[in-house]
Amino acid sequence: MLWLGLAALVAFFAVPPVVALVESTVLRPGPRHVGFWALARVVAGTCHVPWGRRGSPVVRFSLPQGEGRARALRMPGARDWVVEVRAYQAHSFGFAARIAFPRRPPARWRAPGLTVVELFPSETEHLQQASLESTDESLLRWLLRHPETRKHLDALHAETGAEQVEVVFAGEVILLRGHAPVGWKAGEAMEHIGPALVEMLRALSADLGELALALRNVGDPALGAAACPGCGGMTGVDPWACTGCGRHMHRGCREMLDGCANPRCGMAADALPVARTAG
Ligand SMILES: [Zn+2]
Ligand SMILES: [Zn+2]
Repeated sequence: MLWLGLAALVAFFAVPPVVALVESTVLRPGPRHVGFWALARVVAGTCHVPWGRRGSPVVRFSLPQGEGRARALRMPGARDWVVEVRAYQAHSFGFAARIAFPRRPPARWRAPGLTVVELFPSETEHLQQASLESTDESLLRWLLRHPETRKHLDALHAETGAEQVEVVFAGEVILLRGHAPVGWKAGEAMEHIGPALVEMLRALSADLGELALALRNVGDPALGAAACPGCGGMTGVDPWACTGCGRHMHRGCREMLDGCANPRCGMAADALPVARTAG
């Protein structure tokens, strides 16, 4: 009886670490997941594999107005994989905003001035299922006035098959996240959710490139050297200086981006393996 109790005790302590070990080796988004390469092929990009077994491979591709990157991540405490695609735009479009499908409460971490936006009655044909926030309502409206963009955004949730889709505009960065259903593997999520997100990202990159050009033509102060790269506001309030590249931005904007807004900085959330090692 004593032996039985002892065996049960040993099993009690030994099983969880073994399960964790198996999970971490089998479920990690390692290079064995061909889905990363499948996505790279579909979007005419390249796949960068991180050193060691930590982190997600990063798929890199070109965009009309900047550089695109895609990776898989897990939010703290969550069981589902999230496919994230980002555009690092060549020029700032001067505002921050968030669109979430289906409707969600306002973001906890946010750019100063990011507030809930309700569409005018004449604009409710689309985005009925989405919640919207912005630091500059008129610039978000300018973007959503493009009927193609609005229609495309509306169809995105169903097109990807994701449980949730979130679109974040942050000054120089556009960020799209699709939450895969629980049980999907990282590579599977990249292969199935990634292509529609990248297509949407290409359209938004072109639209916001156009907006950036218009803002440059009128000499908008949001594009000045003292402006935050995450929202276009002045960085005097809530400042944060990147330890990787020294660039200043708002703490809230850094949280929204989960890192630096500079794609060549090792502190960027999806820094390429070489940049991260160097940074
Ligand atoms: Zn900011
Ligand atoms: Zn930096």
